[in-house]
Amino acid sequence: MPKYDKYVGFQVNSPDTYKSFHKQEFDVKPFGDNDVEVKIEACGVCSSDVHTISGGWGDQKFPLAVGHEIVGRVIRVGPKVTLAKEGMRVGVGAQSWSCLECRQCKNDNETYCPRQMDTYGAVWPDTGIVTQGGYSSHVRTHEYWTYPIPDAIPSASAAPMLCAGITTYSPLVRNGCGPGKKVAIVGLGGLGHFGVLWAKALGAETWAISRSHSKEADAKKMGADGFLATQDKGWNEAHKMTFDLIVSTANSFGEGFDMAAYLALLDVHGKWISVGLPEEATLQIKPQDFMANGCLIGASHLGSRREMLNMLKLAADKKIDSWVESVPISAENLAKTIERLEKNDVRYRFTMVDYDKEFGA
Ligand SMILES: [Zn+2]
Ligand SMILES: [Zn+2]
Repeated sequence: MPKYDKYVGFQVNSPDTYKSFHKQEFDVKPFGDNDVEVKIEACGVCSSDVHTISGGWGDQKFPLAVGHEIVGRVIRVGPKVTLAKEGMRVGVGAQSWSCLECRQCKNDNETYCPRQMDTYGAVWPDTGIVTQGGYSSHVRTHEYWTYPIPDAIPSASAAPMLCAGITTYSPLVRNGCGPGKKVAIVGLGGLGHFGVLWAKALGAETWAISRSHSKEADAKKMGADGFLATQDKGWNEAHKMTFDLIVSTANSFGEGFDMAAYLALLDVHGKWISVGLPEEATLQIKPQDFMANGCLIGASHLGSRREMLNMLKLAADKKIDSWVESVPISAENLAKTIERLEKNDVRYRFTMVDYDKEFGA
């Protein structure tokens, strides 16, 4: 057995006990020429973390430390690294590798590379080592997936931008969000709150669509120009065929999700782009639903390195602050945080902090 470096992190040992976090050592892949080693300072808590450890998205490799909204300091770089330097504060998101050679990678679409690897739960091919996420002391990854964080953005605020932020930023910029466009964000959770912040910052007329009016005041504070609550009778009537783009962060397409009512909001060839990943992912839809306006339906996965850097620059330039609740990392606090996330008891994102206290300076 080769001897590997070890980090320590809060791992879950089985989906049956997914709220029990155990501080354990795990193997790390050998340090490569293009690798960067990051001492973690903060990590956002993403719904993907819960879907993964609870088994909602299917079998996973346990024990596993999740967390893919990582911010930390670079403490070591490989001899070929040019994109990061020791001492630099960087972010690491949900993806940690792709081939950088295929058609997709060469066209700014590395998040669609057929060989892409996730930051946690993926297997490094040569070693069999499972990638581990940011509820850990350190992360080691290829320089391409480390992003310098502008000084203007505090770590706790930057962290959730690395997954929730880029997940909503990419579909907005790729689908023309900007001045003169009317854009809706469906769902006002961790993802949706970024959708509203970015759409407004990019200059679009920005609307939030939520089930009830309970988050209306927050949406307006984030910059929304308008708010629609789908529980209101005839909620879409006044806005039919007026939107250029709808980005849906809805986490459930279950009972009462009336897709046709949303699509009716779109102007001719307007786009519906989905970024939420419900566990019961069946979308009820008929061709007739998109005949009246010839609308287009699509999805989006994370965002490229170029988009990540542009997003962070936009956040720094426009002083955009994530709405986060910071929680000191510990086994107990992770359990509590996951429980609150499952109840949607957060406005609008958790970031685990105080890594020094748990993992040492
Ligand atoms: Zn995520
Ligand atoms: Zn590729």
